[in-house]
Amino acid sequence: MVAKPPRPGKIVCVGRNYAAHARELGHEVPAEPLLFFKPPSAIIPAGGEIVVPAGVGRVDFEGEVAFVVGTRARSVPREEGWGVLSHLAAANDVTARDLQRTDGQWTRAKGFDTFLPLGEPVALEGVDRDALELRTLVNGELRQLGRIGEMIFDPPTLVSFISGIMTLEPGDLILTGTPEGVGPLAPGDEVQVRIEGAPPLRNRVVAGARDG
Ligand code: MG
Repeated sequence: MVAKPPRPGKIVCVGRNYAAHARELGHEVPAEPLLFFKPPSAIIPAGGEIVVPAGVGRVDFEGEVAFVVGTRARSVPREEGWGVLSHLAAANDVTARDLQRTDGQWTRAKGFDTFLPLGEPVALEGVDRDALELRTLVNGELRQLGRIGEMIFDPPTLVSFISGIMTLEPGDLILTGTPEGVGPLAPGDEVQVRIEGAPPLRNRVVAGARDG
């Protein structure tokens, strides 16, 4: 079994994986999973500070369920997808929304330091996967509520799809997309991502220095 992943080899993320969220950003529901990467250097733990860089415009929270890959996997059939995953964790796919819209690629918008708050992983054994719910709160107010059953592409489908492209290795992370309700963060805000049974993820937002 894999322990917590302080520096996963790769972090594969899925965009627009809840229909209501795709619509709130004005997009169609994708026909195939839409993948992008976040860099391991973006990870901060619970309690770490999310730094909003100067001059990048709107920066949003995106509460997400993250899964940790437990075994090396290549071209896994969907029926075996769950067996590849060992842990889950609360995650926040912090996004510079204006840059995401203007850049052709999302590397910059998704890749700033501190843009991946990641909670302590918990083993999937014993977790009622089908009942998983994700909640995001900003300053104590509920902003997102997502159920794993509402995903367009469920976790085993994602494992199958991604492992058909690239070998998944122990410790890699898969972020499964955010439900509707995303919104901007401002310095001083406190954002929490909660998944029942997993340690809570709570982070404060601070302003970055202009030359930071
Ligand atoms: Mg996301």
